[in-house]
Amino acid sequence: MSNNNERLHRHSEVSRTMRQVRKQIKRNRKPKPARRKNWMPDNFDDLDALCDLPQAERVMPRGERERRQAVTTAALATLEEQASADGELPTTEEPLGLQGVVVEVSSGLCCVDLGGRSLICALRGSLTAQDTGFTNVVAVGDKVIVSESSSAQGVVEAVLPRRSVLARPDVFHRHLKQVIAANADQLLVVASWRDPIFWPELTDRYLIAAERNNLSPIICVNKIDLAEDVADCQSALRPYLALGYRVLFTSALTGKGVSELREVLRGRMTVLAGLSGVGKSSLLSAAQPGLQLRTGEVSDRSGEGQHVTTQVNLFRLDIGGFVVDTPGIREFGLSGLRRAELARFYPEMTAVEGGCRFSDCSHLHEPGCAVQAAVQQGSVSATRYHNYQKIYECLPT
Ligand code: GDP
Ligand code: ZN
Repeated sequence: MSNNNERLHRHSEVSRTMRQVRKQIKRNRKPKPARRKNWMPDNFDDLDALCDLPQAERVMPRGERERRQAVTTAALATLEEQASADGELPTTEEPLGLQGVVVEVSSGLCCVDLGGRSLICALRGSLTAQDTGFTNVVAVGDKVIVSESSSAQGVVEAVLPRRSVLARPDVFHRHLKQVIAANADQLLVVASWRDPIFWPELTDRYLIAAERNNLSPIICVNKIDLAEDVADCQSALRPYLALGYRVLFTSALTGKGVSELREVLRGRMTVLAGLSGVGKSSLLSAAQPGLQLRTGEVSDRSGEGQHVTTQVNLFRLDIGGFVVDTPGIREFGLSGLRRAELARFYPEMTAVEGGCRFSDCSHLHEPGCAVQAAVQQGSVSATRYHNYQKIYECLPT
């Protein structure tokens, strides 16, 4: 037998043995201990909470991990027995399935990207989100193990531990969260210079949301072809550049800045944020010709006008990486944020507020306020301070 044939033969043997062992274990299955509870943070924000999850946690049925271990051990033991009878050494390299990334989810099915190849998968019926604090078992961005029943369809066997979770309250179960996207790295805050006009307050809101969700922010000012002088765009963004934010100036129309954008996207999982009409889809198709952000967008409302589901799409980039696009996270909220916490999202203010006369200074009206003094001297940007005032007024005490 050639090496390949041998491997194939061994693989089908392993699969067959595993199937048999699985059946046997299923028959003898005993009630399994409940999963550890309370691993979610208590202080969820109303919107867009991202939490770092314990590395060991994964969405699996109760006792699934133990069951899998038992299946593997039993299968290997059986193989070992057979192999020693044949005078052959067993292989331990056979994986339990293929690993992929979920790129789309809809009513019990999901589309999994297996390194460029897409596979529609059902979810293994025993998978449950019970006790995880979330209502959905899988979300886009999830790394999953799938078994392929035929070339046309697969089954998600397990969801691997998540590095990060972007979630929001579930519409029907307010105490639970709906995972919008898993494993995101960065937030691309897209604004346009004109049409709609650049709105620094919204940029600040997105930057705060990025910080709260532990995503690295990148600001992208698009439609710079509409600026009379590009220097105007640069000076408007100077406060952000001075604070160390990465700022891209782009035009999807002329292609300016698009190669820089590609570098930013390369190899990362990027969440898109920005008002409708700023040019997100145009930019993405400029960065990767043929990429259509608008595929399969669905209505957010049922017949009764109730918000039901949000389409979340994840697009694989040819240069490596993914882009997450969802109307549901375009409008980031700052829910749960209190007035007193706002200044900490303004590092230029935090740097000087030690000089304020009152330790609980709001930096708005108090005498002896070092922040206001810094604004007057020009060391804190008047625009950023203005945004701070506007956002402060909208927050609860
Ligand atoms: P989205 O809603 O953020 O995805 O925005 P779209 O990509 O759909 O763009 C909205 C409109 O702006 C479309 O008419 C685009 O042709 C136009 N647009 C997008 N990018 C640019 C740009 O860089 N310059 C100009 N002048 N128009 C642009
Ligand atoms: Zn102050």
